[in-house]
Amino acid sequence: MNAPISERYSRQTLFYGLGKTGQARLADSHVALFGCGALGAMHAEMLARAGVGRIRLIDRDFIEASNLHRQIMYDESDVASRLPKAVAAAERIARINSEVKAEPIVKDINYANVEELIRDADVVLDGADNFEVRYLLNDAAVKLGKPWVYGAAVSAHGLQMTIRPGVTPCLRCVFPDPPPPGTSPTCDTSGVILPIIAAISAYQVTETLKLLTGQEDKLHGALLQFDVWQNSFTRLKLRERTPDCPACQQGKFEFLTGHTVIFRDILTIVQHIRQASGSGTLQLPNNFDAWAGENIRFVWRIR
Ligand SMILES: [Zn+2]
Repeated sequence: MNAPISERYSRQTLFYGLGKTGQARLADSHVALFGCGALGAMHAEMLARAGVGRIRLIDRDFIEASNLHRQIMYDESDVASRLPKAVAAAERIARINSEVKAEPIVKDINYANVEELIRDADVVLDGADNFEVRYLLNDAAVKLGKPWVYGAAVSAHGLQMTIRPGVTPCLRCVFPDPPPPGTSPTCDTSGVILPIIAAISAYQVTETLKLLTGQEDKLHGALLQFDVWQNSFTRLKLRERTPDCPACQQGKFEFLTGHTVIFRDILTIVQHIRQASGSGTLQLPNNFDAWAGENIRFVWRIR
């Protein structure tokens, strides 16, 4: 709370929602950011300019040319250098705002490390591009009582909600299970445009600033959905937590058990067997994919 307020924030501290007190709280804050791709890079840029004191940047990927149209922290020199996104993002943050401590972590996020990655953070911010990470984040954040800010975007469509464990519905209250693999559009299958990234990130970062400055009463309290191409916007008010939610009501953190990894491995093995069985004797049911999709929980529990 006693961090110096530099001239660089003069227009931000004039904003009624922050002031010098809010600015000082941002300087003392720590955000764990998962993913440094399109959403994550936009979040990181805004958090650094806003003066959030410490940003942990977690991403395992390297920068590619196909990232540049939407991942605003990176440029052609980063592609040529083949830098990890987390490292390149940290270097850019150092150039934007030397008062911010950026901590790059080039690592695969999994059930064994996710809790350690968020334990000392004030807010967990989602910049991931897959369901596996988001369900890990939900379990870990609910278990440790950390607020987390969900956001997703593909094509021109996006979703955003903010989760406060024990107060608001969690991700599993709203979406009890992840969709079966391969059934949801991704940026690799449907593409994406930068404006929807900017729109979703704007909501996520604003919600994060409210949380970091203790203004929970200003959170929007809804599942926001919008499409910047189709001109649609819906605001689904979130009310009660789901009474039988395994995560926030029953304290069963199924995604922290490692069984999701078993599930993924089983599917991989089955796919190999299926490919090999073209000339062999093994036959799988024709409807195996549908069956697997309906029985995800069962498959998790095989071990
Ligand atoms: Zn829940």
